[in-house]
Amino acid sequence: MNLFQIPIRKIQKYAFCPRQFMLEVILQVPPDPTVELIKGELIHKRIDRKKYRNKKRKLFGISIELANEELGILGIIDLVEITQDGRLIPVEFKKNSNPNYLPDWIGLCAYALCLEYEGYDIAHLEIYCHESRKRYQKSYDNYLKQLTIQTIRGIRNDTEFKRTTNPNKCKNCANRTFCWVETIQTTIQME
Ligand code: SF4
Repeated sequence: MNLFQIPIRKIQKYAFCPRQFMLEVILQVPPDPTVELIKGELIHKRIDRKKYRNKKRKLFGISIELANEELGILGIIDLVEITQDGRLIPVEFKKNSNPNYLPDWIGLCAYALCLEYEGYDIAHLEIYCHESRKRYQKSYDNYLKQLTIQTIRGIRNDTEFKRTTNPNKCKNCANRTFCWVETIQTTIQME
């Protein structure tokens, strides 16, 4: 898939299920408007990023446009802070977040790869969870970087965008209506 720059906020979709990425990004099918989804989008839009930033650190910027031409990715990160030794901390805001949910970290790591591409050093990654008002940290290590680069290359080289093999993921998937509709068999009765 070399037709366009990959939107960073959708990389985590591919990590969750390649089919979901295809529906939302390539076919542009909007997800089902579930209450949770609408609530999440509203909170994300209205959240005061200045208010919830770490005041002990300097602010590098809010809602910064980032890109990495080599990887062909672009997006807007919620917040970037600076440590005392001048390294950057990319921060994303989530309505709720499970610190063990890897696709969220892959998405955030993609932003860090953009900042690094611009020549900045990264201290670590952080996700701010709005519901718990907690911040979760993850190290910006080689494993996560390689996993993120592999995911981006996976999107570029994918020709099938297969459905996940984990049926549990489909239960709460906001794309399930459209995803499965084409598999429903229809029989036309001839008089
Ligand atoms: S319903 Fe299942 S297979 Fe379809 S996009 Fe969602 S998670 Fe993927």
